[in-house]
Amino acid sequence: MKTIIVQGAMHTEIEHLINMFPGGQTVTHHGYTFYETSHCGTRIIISRTEMGTLAATICTMLAIEIYKPDVIINQGTAGAHLKELQVGDIIIGEEAVYINNTRSPARQEGQGSNALEWHPGKSLSYLIKAEPSLVKMAISIPYSKGKLLCGRLGTGDVFSKEVDRINLLHSQLGELCEDMESVAVYKACQTMNIPVIGIRIISNNEITGNDDVDKQFEFSQLALQKYIFDFITDLSKNYLK
Ligand code: SAH
Repeated sequence: MKTIIVQGAMHTEIEHLINMFPGGQTVTHHGYTFYETSHCGTRIIISRTEMGTLAATICTMLAIEIYKPDVIINQGTAGAHLKELQVGDIIIGEEAVYINNTRSPARQEGQGSNALEWHPGKSLSYLIKAEPSLVKMAISIPYSKGKLLCGRLGTGDVFSKEVDRINLLHSQLGELCEDMESVAVYKACQTMNIPVIGIRIISNNEITGNDDVDKQFEFSQLALQKYIFDFITDLSKNYLK
């Protein structure tokens, strides 16, 4: 039997999926929660990675060792790094880039700090591709709550709410949005040779003033999980046969 792992960082990012795949069981490995079930002849593991790159890396490595997946889907919310993106738009992560990789100019004690002068550092410059055939399948799944587009996801342990900083990051690294897990999962999958795709829904756009309010998170999490359910069904029936 083939295995798909689908990940979300928080309970609210996987709870609708769990309800859409009833009859499974929840297990815990080293403090990380996995819901094990099956669908259309495929084993489905719904994994809560917890938030941030460290947890996402650990959880993905653990899940690969335990479940030997054929595909990993990382999904969840993100903040837009382009003013044209609206709450509810979905970005299929053709690639993911690490946005915490920064180097500051030197300043002496008392000279302060200015993040608008930071540049991407030379080491740790991860830019990692998703599995192209998964990207192609994802873009073919119908979605009606917003735009569906392909592009570069940005990931760091940061929640950027300064528009000048967001615009600078976008100009330096080309990411369409910001989250806290995607590139970590891409890195683990690249290391272990597992096909991966990250899919993010815009829950906030600090550039246009659409702040990170709970209502927008709830709306986008539900919309994305419905789309992910259709994607998983398609993968189970067509891709993994
Ligand atoms: N209401 C939640 C908000 C968490 S936001 C809480 O207070 O706990 C952080 C999570 O949402 C991360 O898992 C990240 O992947 C995603 N996320 C959504 N918008 C983001 C943004 N603008 N920057 C970084 N992460 C964002």
